[in-house]
Amino acid sequence: MIGFLRHELFIRHLAGYNHVESPARVEAILARIKKSPVASSLSFIEAEPAKIEWLERVHDPKYVKGILALEIDEPVVLDWGDTVATRVTPAAARHAAGAGVQAARLVLDGKISSAFCCVRPPGHHAERNRAMGFCIFNNIAVAAAHLVEGEGLKRVAIVDWDVHHGNGTENMFIEDDRVLYISIHQYPHYPGTGSAGTIGAGKGTGYTVNLPMASGAGDREYLAAFRNRIIPALDDFMPEFILISAGFDAHGDDPLSGMVLTTSAFRTMTLLLKASAEKHCGGRIVSMLEGGYDIHALADSVETHVAALAT
Ligand SMILES: [Zn+2]
Repeated sequence: MIGFLRHELFIRHLAGYNHVESPARVEAILARIKKSPVASSLSFIEAEPAKIEWLERVHDPKYVKGILALEIDEPVVLDWGDTVATRVTPAAARHAAGAGVQAARLVLDGKISSAFCCVRPPGHHAERNRAMGFCIFNNIAVAAAHLVEGEGLKRVAIVDWDVHHGNGTENMFIEDDRVLYISIHQYPHYPGTGSAGTIGAGKGTGYTVNLPMASGAGDREYLAAFRNRIIPALDDFMPEFILISAGFDAHGDDPLSGMVLTTSAFRTMTLLLKASAEKHCGGRIVSMLEGGYDIHALADSVETHVAALAT
């Protein structure tokens, strides 16, 4: 069975009025998945909140405390207008970060074979001590840090195919040789980081792989990068677990990118990572929703991605 982690809070979190990172994203995914043939292969699991110590592995304790203590009646701007908190945001963010750890533990215990976490707010732009780019806590980084520090794994790979570079995730593991961070993203583009020359630092040198792509890239360019760069990098690293920062905003219909991926590219990318996970780590994959802002393309792409995990 494939775990599908969800929570009502991921629908109730409001990132601001008329914001592209809207509750409609998760509503559209859930509506699609419910009537999809893939639903019979899924185990629907309610996400649990992250423990404070899980969050503090990658975030400044003062920042964690500040977010969780927010009591908000009116939306509060956390980052230059694009990252906004409302009443349920602290709880939603805490559950979004908890979902990845929970899913990873279920996979390690053999209760599910892999998982997709249908979370909001997203995570990969969140830095150690600040919210950024619609992200509050860095969900995927909390999961990776748990796998190495909480479960004792020695090699965890994060593949980030969101169209934006995951600056927060990169920074959190830049000097860490236990976490391989691979990002394929539009460049130059928000948030400005992710040049090919950023390859890690200190003992983490070589454990950050950035694959910047020019605006207009599509299936051919992405699948070539997967086959020629990403899969070989995973073969060299031999991960014990693969995490996916699964943003679907490189889709051709997405309003926030210049990329032109089709829905079927997400199927092929998923199958390539699944084959790599089967080769190296018994198929262990946890995928977490990041971006994706065209509601129809997002629902199509997530259904395709989850169905590929389930094949
Ligand atoms: Zn994105």
